[in-house]
Amino acid sequence: MRGWGIQRFNVYIPSSLEDALKVLSEKGSEVTLLAGGTDVLVLARTNIVKLKLVLDLWPLRKELSYVKKEDGYIKIGALTTIDEIYNSFLTKDRRYYGFHDLYWNFGTPYLRNLATAGGNIGTAHPLSDLSILLLTLGAEVKLTSISGERWVPLEKMFLDIRRLNRRPDEMITEIRFRETPENSSTALMKLDRRKGHAMGYIVTAAYMALEGDTIANVRIAFDSTGKPYPGRAYKTEEFLRGKELSLETIREAYNVLEKEMTRISDYRAPAEYRVDLSKVLMKRCLLLIKSRIEGGV
Ligand SMILES: Cc1cc2nc3c(=O)[nH]c(=O)nc-3n(C[C@H](O)[C@H](O)[C@H](O)COP(=O)(O)OP(=O)(O)OC[C@H]3O[C@@H](n4cnc5c(N)ncnc54)[C@H](O)[C@@H]3O)c2cc1C
Repeated sequence: MRGWGIQRFNVYIPSSLEDALKVLSEKGSEVTLLAGGTDVLVLARTNIVKLKLVLDLWPLRKELSYVKKEDGYIKIGALTTIDEIYNSFLTKDRRYYGFHDLYWNFGTPYLRNLATAGGNIGTAHPLSDLSILLLTLGAEVKLTSISGERWVPLEKMFLDIRRLNRRPDEMITEIRFRETPENSSTALMKLDRRKGHAMGYIVTAAYMALEGDTIANVRIAFDSTGKPYPGRAYKTEEFLRGKELSLETIREAYNVLEKEMTRISDYRAPAEYRVDLSKVLMKRCLLLIKSRIEGGV
């Protein structure tokens, strides 16, 4: 039954990660993972998601809430909130100023206190801002089960809208990406009708490394490039790599982007408008990154 209504379900509160993984191994197919609940509880309230057994991950924050540097990687625990990411060293390092943009574009203060990194990937939704930024950093996702763990590139985590590439006995426990070079930075931009509660139209993020004026490396991600989940513009990146960063180069890249990007039209915006805006936001992200590398904010 759709529509508003109260569902009856059981909740399991695990005492440790091991305890949670045991429940997942025994009852995975009937379990709904609950992190901050800012997405799943909204869907449950309108009966889009049916709850049977909810596994409350919040008690695992003592094990899975952190942002740290280790072995050349930046590691983010799955239960780390958007607020905690903002308050970490990441937003003080100009290479990762994209996380600054993320925070100021993400929902509202109470939401940022609850919304987690693992939950943002877990939604497998095009408008998952953190996932879009993490795609530009070449992030990998750690899936853990009672029988072990495996690393999956973030771009392979999404199968469809709201369909995540994980087995029922697995959960996301960590996200990691390699530390980036000094001459690089990140940016995220979003077009919203209004801030806070309305879903954005277009989200764009980019990572770029410069050698002088030459684009040594670049990754660009959007809320969608054709599939109904976040994705990278690989052909546009390939076109830009090795070229001098200039307005002319970016305008030439527009032609590549419009060929590799297929946008939908709906009541919120026509496809042509979405493609045009994607180009503009890509340009602005790349120019902002350049100024950040040169010492700007
Ligand atoms: C008013 C409003 C505004 C919003 N604004 C934004 C916004 O600006 N930007 C944005 O990106 N999102 C936004 N969202 C969506 C949501 O807040 C985010 O996607 C958030 O990051 C979800 O995290 P959570 O911890 O609350 O996830 P939950 O709601 O707890 O879970 C989301 C999904 O992920 C799964 N999941 C959770 N944790 C794990 C795990 N460790 N391993 C595997 N699966 C897991 C759950 O089972 C569920 O399917 C908004 C939502 C609302 C209601």
